Amino acid sequence: MSIPYFTELFTDLPIQLRKLVAKIESHADLRIEVEVSDQQTMACEFGKRTARILIPDTGPPRGASVFHELLHLKRYFVDGVPKLIYCDDEHEFEDDDDARTPRLFARLDNQIEHLFIVPRELARYRSERRYWEARMGALLTDPMLPDDGALVAWEFVHRVLKSGVLSDAAQAQVHQRGLGDACDRFHQAVEESKEAATLCLFETFAPAKLPRACLDYFDQPHEIPLASMKRPAI
Ligand SMILES: [Zn+2]
Repeated sequence: MSIPYFTELFTDLPIQLRKLVAKIESHADLRIEVEVSDQQTMACEFGKRTARILIPDTGPPRGASVFHELLHLKRYFVDGVPKLIYCDDEHEFEDDDDARTPRLFARLDNQIEHLFIVPRELARYRSERRYWEARMGALLTDPMLPDDGALVAWEFVHRVLKSGVLSDAAQAQVHQRGLGDACDRFHQAVEESKEAATLCLFETFAPAKLPRACLDYFDQPHEIPLASMKRPAI
């Protein structure tokens, strides 16, 4: 069975999106595949040698959504940004909660990536701001929102949405959890790099899980322990 490639299925992509696809494919030396999924929204799956965009079966994909997924892929394959991965194959999970750790790492990586990607998405597709405001608004009123999620949401509101209507809600979340200092540290770390931001979250909320976290640089053969990003104490 032949593999369906993204640009072969969607031949009427705007020229700037076609150029972006070509750039990623030539840098990564692979073709971006496409798969129809039963999810409501687009997503992408990728590893060192594969990149696949998942599209909902509700019709042709929207330009802004295609751009968003391509930005995810460009960061890893072209810009050389590492992906946070679970790397402790020896560890036996203690319970269901523990067994969810690899999935939590993947979700965290996605949330951190959005701090870098969505400003670029909004610069080109300004009307998407409504979508992100609604998504963040729902998150900030979710009673299950964990502390690290509240911190990342606070940073998203300030960095990506430039405060706006959600500023008070984000501030209230971090204030009632006593995360003021953590916000300052995380904000500085995001300014520095994704690696620093990721390490900051683990040191603040999950130091015990730090040894199980690695950074996967797609152009390098081996993963690098996240803990090795620590600067030597002065
Ligand atoms: Zn995304």
